[in-house]
Amino acid sequence: MPDIQARIETIFEQVVRRNAGEREFHQAVKEVIETLGPVLRAHPEYTEHKIIERICEPERQIIFRVPWQDDRGEVQIHRGFRVGFNSALGPYKGGLRFHPSVYLGIVKFLGFEQTFKNAVTGMPIGGAKGGSDFDPKGRSDAEVMRFCQSFMTELYRHIGEFTDVPAGDIGVGAREIGFLFGQYKRITNRYESGVITGKDPRWGGSLVRREATGYGVVYFVEEMLKARGESIEGKTCVVSGSGNVAIYAMEKLEALGAQVVACSDSNGFVHHPRGIHLATLKRLKEAERRRIRDYAAERPDAKYVEAGRIWDVPCQVALPCATENELDERAARTLLANGCVAVGEGANMPVTPGGVRAFQAAGIAYGPGKAANAGGVATSALEMQQNASRDAWTFEYTERRLHEIMRRIHRDCHETAAEFGCPGNYVVGANIVGFRRVADAMLAFGVV
Ligand code: NDP
Repeated sequence: MPDIQARIETIFEQVVRRNAGEREFHQAVKEVIETLGPVLRAHPEYTEHKIIERICEPERQIIFRVPWQDDRGEVQIHRGFRVGFNSALGPYKGGLRFHPSVYLGIVKFLGFEQTFKNAVTGMPIGGAKGGSDFDPKGRSDAEVMRFCQSFMTELYRHIGEFTDVPAGDIGVGAREIGFLFGQYKRITNRYESGVITGKDPRWGGSLVRREATGYGVVYFVEEMLKARGESIEGKTCVVSGSGNVAIYAMEKLEALGAQVVACSDSNGFVHHPRGIHLATLKRLKEAERRRIRDYAAERPDAKYVEAGRIWDVPCQVALPCATENELDERAARTLLANGCVAVGEGANMPVTPGGVRAFQAAGIAYGPGKAANAGGVATSALEMQQNASRDAWTFEYTERRLHEIMRRIHRDCHETAAEFGCPGNYVVGANIVGFRRVADAMLAFGVV
């Protein structure tokens, strides 16, 4: 058996060579495979059957043109993506992101992460991701509708409740999901609720899906703190972003007795030492689609900082809930110097590798997105269960299921990290839990 470490390095070099220029994808692969040494040593069959090499190659990648007409009648052209990364555990499952930064490398990084995250939930779902470089910001509802219809006119032939089940992500909320599902229904002549999740609860969506990722992150952080004999109650928190994940993380933090003093968007952040007023924030961001600077205009004792660093605001709990690589090593050191004791990733890969190393070296509780933000996709799987049985569960019942799932994810990651000699290291725990589940299914299916 060749030296495992050398083998991992060779595989990584191949990934970089075969996926040139896809920086975020390289980062995501490296972060996972460099933690797999102990499990590969214990299970030589994974190496023999080239499981890692296979896991790093998406099963399918679809790229398509999305032409549409804006309100002035001008033709616009965007690019659409759907990457089915791995279907060993179930149909491909993962969100769609509409943001100008979207290109194949971002979609592959997210699809790769999603494969492990979905496995960590213990639910029967494979990993996928998709999206477009279209920016819904500043577009009218009619423009967003025409874009979504054009996007689905190609995507529909690649998805289905047993094949691939998309959902929302950055820039894709209830409005976009509605337009996408409406076009799917029209083209296919099927009311196939289970083909997409994140639907409005009035027509097949799950209660709690909107809240699930944010609530789930907070439940995960609560478990990490409990494992250290601490509690979330009374803690001062900073949450980056002010989108779906951030808003509901803030809501749950507040419900558990913590105080959120800062949040942001891509232009700047607000610092409100008395605590962010959630009703104001929700109205501005959800109902009126306005900017975070408008919050400070309405709450004069809050300060708006344009293009500032939200992580300079002192806190004990930090939840990065905006986007990838938003918290670097310097920000991590500032947080640590200010007394931060727990970090939970609401966004996907928001902390850079240097930031992760700083948190781990300091020994604080650090929950990687694969585990900490898995509550969203877990609730999507609950939505699929409800759709398959044509049932609709109550908010309370669904939230109880979500809470149980987050506790189980925490326990599995915590126990697995200890089993492989890294107690308290949730990166190792989550990567090995996810990898083993996918790898065992792939072994059982043979070379496919
Ligand atoms: P939203 O579009 O609802 O919100 C995104 C928020 O992040 C906005 O406040 C946005 O500000 C900010 N943001 C986006 N890009 C940047 C950037 N480059 N720099 C600074 N701020 C930025 O998305 P979600 O809340 O759904 O997703 C946030 C993160 O959580 C993403 O990483 C996503 O992949 C991850 N995630 C989401 C899940 C879900 O259920 N929605 C599930 C699991 C993970 P602005 O309005 O200015 O763009």
